[in-house]
Amino acid sequence: MSITTADERVSGFVSSPRQMFIGGQWTEAASGKTFATPDPATGETLANVAEGDAEDIDRAIRAARAAFDDGPWSRMTPSDRGRLIWRIGDLILEHADELAQLESMDNGKPYTVARAADIPLAADLFHYMAGWATKIEGNTINISVPIAPGANFHSYTLREPVGVVGQIIPWNFPLLMAAWKIGPALTTGNTLILKPAEQTPLTALRLAELIQEAGVPDGVVNVVPGYGETAGARLAAHPDVDKVAFTGSTEVGRLIVQAAAGNLKKVSLELGGKSPNIVFDDADSSAVEGAANAIFFNHGQCCVAGSRLFVHQSRFDEVIEGVADIAKSIKLGPGMDSATQMGPLVSEEQLSRVTGYLDAGRDEGATTVVGGGRYGDRGYFVEPTVLTGTRSDMKVVREEIFGPVVVAQPFSDLDEIAAQANDTDYGLGAGIWTKDISKAHALAKKIRAGTVWINCYNVFDSALPFGGYKQSGWGREMGHEVLNNYTEVKAVTAQL
Ligand code: NAD
Repeated sequence: MSITTADERVSGFVSSPRQMFIGGQWTEAASGKTFATPDPATGETLANVAEGDAEDIDRAIRAARAAFDDGPWSRMTPSDRGRLIWRIGDLILEHADELAQLESMDNGKPYTVARAADIPLAADLFHYMAGWATKIEGNTINISVPIAPGANFHSYTLREPVGVVGQIIPWNFPLLMAAWKIGPALTTGNTLILKPAEQTPLTALRLAELIQEAGVPDGVVNVVPGYGETAGARLAAHPDVDKVAFTGSTEVGRLIVQAAAGNLKKVSLELGGKSPNIVFDDADSSAVEGAANAIFFNHGQCCVAGSRLFVHQSRFDEVIEGVADIAKSIKLGPGMDSATQMGPLVSEEQLSRVTGYLDAGRDEGATTVVGGGRYGDRGYFVEPTVLTGTRSDMKVVREEIFGPVVVAQPFSDLDEIAAQANDTDYGLGAGIWTKDISKAHALAKKIRAGTVWINCYNVFDSALPFGGYKQSGWGREMGHEVLNNYTEVKAVTAQL
């Protein structure tokens, strides 16, 4: 018997064109087209992937519809469904090395980070969601019905799956975002079509193989790689899709809402951010590392990145110097190099977007304390960057850069900082660093954001709801809150 290592599995996986997964079958695109997914460390083609477009999305929707309306999925007991979902989590852990390697090669992030964070978090999400399958409940409700005095009614609610769900995800945490979408949709009994980002389709396709291996019935999960303007747009607009769940930019989020208006499908959105990270004068010294981690983790390609750093004026110079020292010490390199602490950005487009913001910051008068440009001339690397001397009207302060670039400003008191922190169209996350816990909680209440971290940052858990206020989104993912995104409530009343 031969033992296949993760290395061999990965090279086998990328060496032949990858097909899409529709109705339990692996298939080419109807058009026969494929697209290349490049290695962001070199720009060279890593793998070729079937390019789904409207026709493939239509096929996948038919498969998901049939699986929802007629398939074994809706007749499966919640506990059997839960067991299958748990098994997906187990399979992810069994293939963790291989998935981390694929993720690192496709996205650019360090293998060590993918192995320590993305993959176990994805597995945990399935394990967490598996438990909810047996706990989806309605209520019995005593009603009064003033216009029917003396009548006796029995009323209760049923919580039912929404139906066929279209799911569109970005490239920054490809497997984890797939897990955040697929896990709760399955737990609540929906069927789905997932469109991964065109930059990073590989781990979602490998996940589909594991979902098949776990025994999820054909048509329940369909994965169609392709571009946003074709495959994604069709999924968002299709009249046979009951709900669309989207993670990505606020700009595309608006297009999703417009496309969904045709059949008024349910919509949930996880969008961009420009999150404040606030360091008070009494903060512990760990705030410096915390501020650096808040922006440089995943190369700043986090919707919740602590990209606006506010430091009390009495500590401003010290904290900025500390963050700049960390930025200088970060080792950039290919994700698969074990010494690498920060890999390349995901794509050439992302490289020019981020360097464009660096130019804009300079043009508007910001001071570059460290970094400020592209790193090397091969691959899509950008130097970790700290900008000071910024004003709230600057492009680099108002817009999401989605790269390793932090804009830092001093502040002097609590009322001022709450207003500054909320001076943004977004409302995804915030960080507060102080030893005064009363002050921290008082400020946490004032901040208009879906997540507030106190003396920590980037702490995620499957049990914690995540999502945005304002233009950062609609609805919450994870925790039991997400179950509302994927269910309809039916009120049943009987006269006795
Ligand atoms: P993007 O919006 O360009 O793309 C996201 C997905 O949408 C991709 O799969 C893409 O193919 C698809 N898409 C693009 N145009 C489409 C269209 N017209 N119709 C349907 N689908 C379409 O975003 P991106 O550049 O890939 O990702 C970065 C953005 O995602 C950032 O703004 C970031 O803040 C956001 N993000 C948010 C969260 C969150 O949880 N809030 C998480 C990760 C990323």
